[in-house]
Amino acid sequence: MLATGRVLQNKNSKSQTDVHGDPVGLRSGSALLVPGDPAPYETVNTGGAARVLLVCDHASRAIPATLANLGLPDAALDRHIACDLGAGDLTRSLAQSLDAPAVLAGFSRLVVDCNRALDDPTAFLAVSDGDIVPGNRDLDVAAKALREQEIYWPYHQAIEAQLDEYRLNGLTPALIAIHSFTPFYDRQARPWEIGVLWDKDPRIPVQLIHRLRDSGVVVGDNKPYSGKHPADFTIDHHGEEAGLPCVSIEIRQDLVRSAEGVAQWARLLGKVLADILADDDLYRPRDRENLI
Ligand SMILES: [Zn+2]
Repeated sequence: MLATGRVLQNKNSKSQTDVHGDPVGLRSGSALLVPGDPAPYETVNTGGAARVLLVCDHASRAIPATLANLGLPDAALDRHIACDLGAGDLTRSLAQSLDAPAVLAGFSRLVVDCNRALDDPTAFLAVSDGDIVPGNRDLDVAAKALREQEIYWPYHQAIEAQLDEYRLNGLTPALIAIHSFTPFYDRQARPWEIGVLWDKDPRIPVQLIHRLRDSGVVVGDNKPYSGKHPADFTIDHHGEEAGLPCVSIEIRQDLVRSAEGVAQWARLLGKVLADILADDDLYRPRDRENLI
């Protein structure tokens, strides 16, 4: 049970309720989510013993029924523009191998990108990788506010509630975000199997890079994206601002396309991360001023 009193959704349950006993996202006055839509977030293994919370901002390709696929054909929603292919399954599998809780976003990044500050121009993309998103053109303040209230904030509040669970027990948790990237970009093959994205806190990422390379993995150090990019939100907001040991892990999508691939990479990442997370010295909140 969480400190907020919120009853979190079972992975297979649609009947998530909030402190008022109302279905989350379906409170009176809800104008966006309707019965049949997924919940704004999914939690997995909330009783997990590991001192790390896994999060997956881009786990889902779901679009609220009221938004009618944002005017996109179904084929577009199967592409990486709708979600990080394989990332949700990898997160769920890693939650099991690490015995860690996980929070996964319930809706597509095209509805609202949960890894952006809301005032970031890419939070509501009208064009994504060349595809026009008709349902995001000329979005007014009220339309954005609905997505923020019913999808974005419930997801981020769920992350914070899980982190609070650790803190209430006197523990400092680690925070790890899972993403995936396309094998090709701009016709260039991306050689990295895993990207380790980090900014000021080297505690997990530097060890992770070394240990993965020792295991024969082709690792991108802040590639194909950089953790220093100012647009990132989830790790910066929940992790770095609180001084938690944190990292973003990007996996190449072709490696986690099958259940076997997901299981294989979850095993490897789980083993490497478990070794790193076993160090008690890791779990000290850092003063942001002392970060290198
Ligand atoms: Zn992502």
